[in-house]
Amino acid sequence: MLLSGTTRLLGRGKPLLRDPCKRICLNMSSASTSGKRLRVLVDMDGVLADFEGGFLKKYRATYPNEPFITLDDRRGFWVSAQYGQLRKDLCEKAINIWQSKDFFMELEPLPGGVEAVKEMSKMENTDVFICTSPIMHYKHCPYEKYAWIDKHLGHNFLEQVILTRDKTLITGDVLIDDKPDIFGVEPKPTWEHILFTACHNKHLSTSPSQRRLLSWSDDWRAILDSKRW
Ligand SMILES: [Mg+2]
Repeated sequence: MLLSGTTRLLGRGKPLLRDPCKRICLNMSSASTSGKRLRVLVDMDGVLADFEGGFLKKYRATYPNEPFITLDDRRGFWVSAQYGQLRKDLCEKAINIWQSKDFFMELEPLPGGVEAVKEMSKMENTDVFICTSPIMHYKHCPYEKYAWIDKHLGHNFLEQVILTRDKTLITGDVLIDDKPDIFGVEPKPTWEHILFTACHNKHLSTSPSQRRLLSWSDDWRAILDSKRW
C-alpha cells in the first residue's frame, strides 16, 4: 500500500518510475554530479508565452471604447501601472483581463521559445526548468500555467515546472526572464539573470554586465555554453 502510494507520488508515466527505489537512486546519482550539469531556469510570461500580445488583444475586445497602449508604447514591467497612468480606473480594468478565466491558457507561444526549450532540455548535461510566478488571484492562473505547458511542451515537462513568487530562492546557473529587476529574500541568487527583451524593457539601458537575449532567434546556445565548465 505504501509502495503503491509512493509510486503514485513519484510516477510520471516513464517506465523507470514503476520502481520508485530506482528513481531515488537515479536522482541521488545525478545530484552527486550536479556540479557538472547546467541548470537553466526559463520564465514563462513574456519569454515563452506572449503575455503582452494576449493582454492587448483581450483588453481591446473587452473594452473597445477605452484608450489603450500599443505594444510599441509600452514602458515599464507592470502593465496595470502604465494603464493607471493613462487613466486611474484603467488600472483595475487591466487587472481584470489577466484575472479572467482562459487568459493564461490562451496566450500564444512567443516565436521559437517552445522549440528552444525542447532543444535545450535534450542537450547533454543540461537541466531546464520553467520558473514562473503565478498571479496572487489564484482561481485560474496556476492551473492554466500547467495546462499551457502540458499543451505546448508536453505532459512530461510538468516535472520541470517551478511556481514561485520569489525566484531568488531557486538555484540555477541562468535565469532567462523579461523582468528587469528580480529581487527576493535571497540577496545573492546563484543564477545569472539574462534579460529577455520585451516591448516593455527594450528601451531600458542596462548595466554593462547585464546580458540580454534579444529573442529566441538570438544566440541562446552561446549563452548556455558560456556558463558550462
Ligand atoms: Mg516574465
